[in-house]
Amino acid sequence: MIAALAAGCSTGTPTTQTPALGVTTESASPSDTGTTSIPPSPSPSPSASPSPSASPSPRPSPTATPAAASCPTTYALPDPKRPRLSATVSFSDGTVTGTERIVFTPDLAVSEIVLRLWAAAPRPARAGGGIDIRSTKIDGRVVTPRRSSPTVLRIPARVAAGRAVTIDVAFTLRLPTGINDRFGHRGTTAWFGSGLPLLAWERGRGWAVDPATAAFAEASTSEAMELTSLTVRRARGLNVIATGVQVSEDGVTARFRARSVRDVAVAVGKMRVAHVPVGNVDVVVGVAPGLADSPLATARELARAMRVHAARFGPFPYERLAVAVLPDIGGGIEYPGAVLLGKNQIRDATASHEVAHEWFYGLIGDDQGRDPWLDESFATYAEALDRGTGPTYERMTIPSAGKGQTGRPMTFWETRQSIYFRSVYIQGGVALIQARRAAGAAAFDNALRCHIRRNAHRVTTPADLRTSLAKLPAAIRVLTAAGALR
Ligand SMILES: [Zn+2]
Repeated sequence: MIAALAAGCSTGTPTTQTPALGVTTESASPSDTGTTSIPPSPSPSPSASPSPSASPSPRPSPTATPAAASCPTTYALPDPKRPRLSATVSFSDGTVTGTERIVFTPDLAVSEIVLRLWAAAPRPARAGGGIDIRSTKIDGRVVTPRRSSPTVLRIPARVAAGRAVTIDVAFTLRLPTGINDRFGHRGTTAWFGSGLPLLAWERGRGWAVDPATAAFAEASTSEAMELTSLTVRRARGLNVIATGVQVSEDGVTARFRARSVRDVAVAVGKMRVAHVPVGNVDVVVGVAPGLADSPLATARELARAMRVHAARFGPFPYERLAVAVLPDIGGGIEYPGAVLLGKNQIRDATASHEVAHEWFYGLIGDDQGRDPWLDESFATYAEALDRGTGPTYERMTIPSAGKGQTGRPMTFWETRQSIYFRSVYIQGGVALIQARRAAGAAAFDNALRCHIRRNAHRVTTPADLRTSLAKLPAAIRVLTAAGALR
């Protein structure tokens, strides 16, 4: 996530051009078609020191210590026992009526299922947003849940480790208007991210019940899931931009699926749409009515950033990047294979930052409440390398209350929201830039690529990163001094 102007970058003067309303489709120019491909990862530099061994072996559990010396050659595969999610949502003005089914195989015994209701977080709630749970079932039986806080739904269920349980939830989302957030609607444009009750599991640890935040930030945690089916119903004439590959579309009902995503975002509206292919990846951008953004220019900038990040970190991890440019959002909010973007965001760091999150949060996840720096500092780092803004960031002043506190959780920043951006995004991004310099760029880049491959489709911790940097003590010293690693 990034807030508009937070990076000190101007978003430019407001444009006065009014776009034509209605559904128009720009197709990519011939130069965008079939000529692009994601560059392969550079081969390990001679100065890097991973052993040449290594087949990509998925970690058995987060408590296992991966051998720092082995570098997988490809991304670890998604866990074959990952949760399977299917959902149907119907948009009607500012209301979304939905059902979801999650088949979940916990790796630890549980006595309850915990789903997070992020639609009831402080930001959407104060603008009238929310979620009602209409029914919950465990293995087909109706079970009465308990809502221990607005965003925490607890459903009694005793499940042994390794046994699959089926969770069915029926819910209704109320989308607010006029707030800079992941939930919103304006006219016939409507959107949500983290709107489906979210299975808050972290393998090897248990339920993630970090408090919600009132900041423009995330506090959610979820394992990568197989999205077996996402069905989106809406009024005829509205487009759908959503997580996953589109399987079918008849103008009223669109279906999507995805191999491994940890959350879902959906936007509907009378959008202007453009596609730009990047190798096998479809970058699709829909611009909501009333916004002057060019869907093609936006898709091209996202594609450009995707190529740069892929060259450094590894192949883009999803089959598609679906981006909705929406009213009321200032900045951008990342989802696996999807981004909810504000207007005019290709003129500053936001587009590159959000694309970087597809690796840092999307592919290698984190507990965004406990370790927000693991995705925000890395997305800032990636975007700074892409755009050459590292020296600018290195000159920025870090507020004294945030100095050396990069690794603090969202509960720490809750009362320090005004210094969150500089203390985590900038301080953490700069620490990574300086760690790279201290360790040597080639060795650091190689260690980070190995880290991403090893932890693909997992929820990572600072300890995982420390393991991956074990042979680069100079980098660890820099990150420790910034309070990122402890
Ligand atoms: Zn971010």
